[in-house]
Amino acid sequence: MSTVIFLVDHNGGKVAKATGELATFAKTIGESVAVVFAANPAEIVTQLNNFPVDKVITVSGEWEKNGPAAVAEGVAQIIAAKKPAAFLITSTASGKEIAGRVAVKTGSGIITDAIGVDKNLITTQSVFGGSTTVHAAVTTGVPIITLRANSIEPVAATSTPTIEEFAATISDSAKLSTITSATPVVKSGRPDLTEAAIVVSGGRGTNGDFKPVEALADALGAAVGASRAATDAGWYPHSHQVGQTGKTVSPQLYVAAGISGAIQHRAGMQTSKTIVAINKDPEAPILELADFAVVGDLFNVLPQATARIIARKG
Ligand SMILES: Cc1cc2nc3c(=O)[nH]c(=O)nc-3n(C[C@H](O)[C@H](O)[C@H](O)COP(=O)(O)OP(=O)(O)OC[C@H]3O[C@@H](n4cnc5c(N)ncnc54)[C@H](O)[C@@H]3O)c2cc1C
Repeated sequence: MSTVIFLVDHNGGKVAKATGELATFAKTIGESVAVVFAANPAEIVTQLNNFPVDKVITVSGEWEKNGPAAVAEGVAQIIAAKKPAAFLITSTASGKEIAGRVAVKTGSGIITDAIGVDKNLITTQSVFGGSTTVHAAVTTGVPIITLRANSIEPVAATSTPTIEEFAATISDSAKLSTITSATPVVKSGRPDLTEAAIVVSGGRGTNGDFKPVEALADALGAAVGASRAATDAGWYPHSHQVGQTGKTVSPQLYVAAGISGAIQHRAGMQTSKTIVAINKDPEAPILELADFAVVGDLFNVLPQATARIIARKG
């Protein structure tokens, strides 16, 4: 049976939802093996019982301090020992850094920012601002693939994985850069933008008033995004910017309110499964991309949609 190993993405002791997607994919190939790098792996391991995981490899140590260079060394040693069919990581900034380092250390090919991967390990990527879809496969070494959140429908499971402790040796050079402090972003209570199944974004059309955008997001349990026009104007934090120079999102549902649909914005959201646009200009480019559109004033449309959703939820 083929084994697919994936890195567990966790922050503040909490496993990221996207890890469930990696586990789900790994299980479709064969043995699903999670790798946990943490000072206290036990608190992470128990959360993996909710995903389809056959085995957990734990590596304890000061990983939070030593960062991607050290994790990459540990992962490379695990790959050398276990010889998996593939190694998967979530496409976060640190995930991609680790993946690149692992690819070099193991002499393997790497594919980043995949939005899909099939049973033959052929990936799908959306490139050039979403204008081109690429199918690719790694032909050298162990395929190292970073997968964007929301690319796979995660399957809930009740697992009792076997646990193996792995003693990784980390070189002095990998410890040269150390993370001296990390301040967690103050959470809004809404889901993380890049992981959310639903994103509601506002643009210049909000004229700085994001309340209707936030109200709809909360009714849907969604994250809030923003165009660069909105973040540059200081109406919403830059950490919420969607697009070429912001975050890339690929949710099940993306709602664009008062956003024209410039190419740089589209680059960050056009792989969303369903796109809904609210714009008062019937010629706005976003309408060409949208699956559903409402031509109207967002200050009329959003509150009505929010009220209907809340009423429906009872
Ligand atoms: C190098 C580079 C990188 C960039 N990176 C990004 C990026 O990462 N993300 C990004 O978003 N942009 C990016 N941009 C900027 C991008 O080109 C656009 O300027 C920006 O996306 C426009 O934002 P917007 O759609 O909110 O504003 P606009 O283009 O001004 O559109 C506002 C829209 O709101 C509609 N509207 C107005 N009032 C209402 C109302 N009351 N109700 C409903 N609709 C209304 C208007 O009809 C219009 O379509 C980048 C640009 C460059 C050059």
